[in-house]
Formats: sequence, C-alpha cells, structure tokens
Amino acid sequence: MLGGMSWESSAQYYRLANELVRERLGGLHSARVLLASVDFADIEALQGAGQWEEAGRLLAQAARGLEAGGAELLLICTNTMHKVADQVQAAIDIPLLHLADATARAITRCGVSTVGLLGTAFTMEHDFYRDRLAGHGLTVLVPHVDDRTDVHRIIYDELCRGVLREESRQIYRDVISRLVEAGAEGVVLGCTEIELLIEAGDSSVPVFPTTRLHVEAAVDASLGAPFRT
Ligand code: GLU
Repeated sequence: MLGGMSWESSAQYYRLANELVRERLGGLHSARVLLASVDFADIEALQGAGQWEEAGRLLAQAARGLEAGGAELLLICTNTMHKVADQVQAAIDIPLLHLADATARAITRCGVSTVGLLGTAFTMEHDFYRDRLAGHGLTVLVPHVDDRTDVHRIIYDELCRGVLREESRQIYRDVISRLVEAGAEGVVLGCTEIELLIEAGDSSVPVFPTTRLHVEAAVDASLGAPFRT
C-alpha cells in the first residue's frame, strides 16, 4: 500500500483489508501488508505547483521500496495520485492494481452506465481518471464549477484532517442530487476520504466507495478469487 494521502483513508485501507481477509479466511487470519506512508504535505505542495512528475518520482521511489520489501501487488491509496500511475508502474516489476479499473468493474457489474464523479478538482477536471472510467464504456458526469469547488475544499480542509461536519455532508448530498438530476445513475466517491462522510443513505442512486472497492479487488486478487459477479 502506497498511502498517507491522506493517512485518514490509508487507515481505512488497512482496516478493510484485514476485515475482508478475516471474513474470507476466518480465525485469526489477517492481511499481509506493507505500507509506505508518505508525508501528504509534500504531495499536496507538488499538486498545487503542478509538479506531477516530481510527485510521481517520489511515489515511484516509495513503490520500489515496497517491491524490495516483498510486495507482490501495489495499491496507490488515492484516486488523485493515479494521475502518475503509469510513472509508478514503469518503475516497478510488480502489478499496480488501478483504482479506477476496480471501480469501473464494480459499476459495470451493477448495470450502471452513467456515473457522477466526486473527487478532488484534479480527479474531476483532468482527463486521467474520467478517461480511465470511459475506457470501460462509462459516461462520466462531473458537478458544475461551484459544486466542484466545494467538494474539493471539503476534501483538503476537512476530510484529510479528520474533520467530519454535518454541514459538509449536506453539501455533498445536494451535489449528489444535482448529479442525479443531470442523469447520473450512480455516484463514484472518487476520493478515498469521501466514504468517511458519505454512505449509501445519502444518495438516491447507488454510490461506489473507491476505498472499499479497491481493497475488495486487492483481496480478490491476492487470494486468487475472481472479481465478484
Ligand atoms: N485521497 C484523495 C483521493 O483519493 C485526495 C488526496 C490526494 O490528493 O491524494 O484523491
């Protein structure tokens, strides 16, 4: 696991991986995990400066450390930093399990073809993530600009700092309603902290929580099971 972006969601990755392995194998079984946890302040500064290649170098270095430590499968525990997924994959020989692929498979399994996307401005506005979902045949809708600003601000100012506010939950619910009005049949919680705030009951259409879906795909891949049908 390449985490720390933020650690609030990496903690969820670790908990979910262990819970799922216990569910699958029972007893005292737990997940064999290596975690490289970066300083998110460094990453956020590089994001803000548009220095994606430098951020990619930093993550690639951490990924090489995980591979050297014995990892057989790599998860980048953030949607946004999948912007540099190719750079990270090129630096290692083990497979990277792409978060957007795991999410798209879950969406397709539900028979949904048009999704609303919530995430950081980078995830909602740059091509890398929307194109990856579109590559699975999905149509992707993003909130309008004011809503994107709110969604982005709440991620960095609150969720990544462990702050969960009812007022922000309501803002997200309203953004989701507008996406549904625009035609979304499902909503991708495309930032690994959003599911700390939002659950299925906050939406009239299915939500796709990317942290959970990523971990489920990783446990399936690690235990040799096929993806759920
Ligand atoms: N964890 C978030 C995501 O899934 C945002 C933090 C980051 O910029 O990496 O996109």
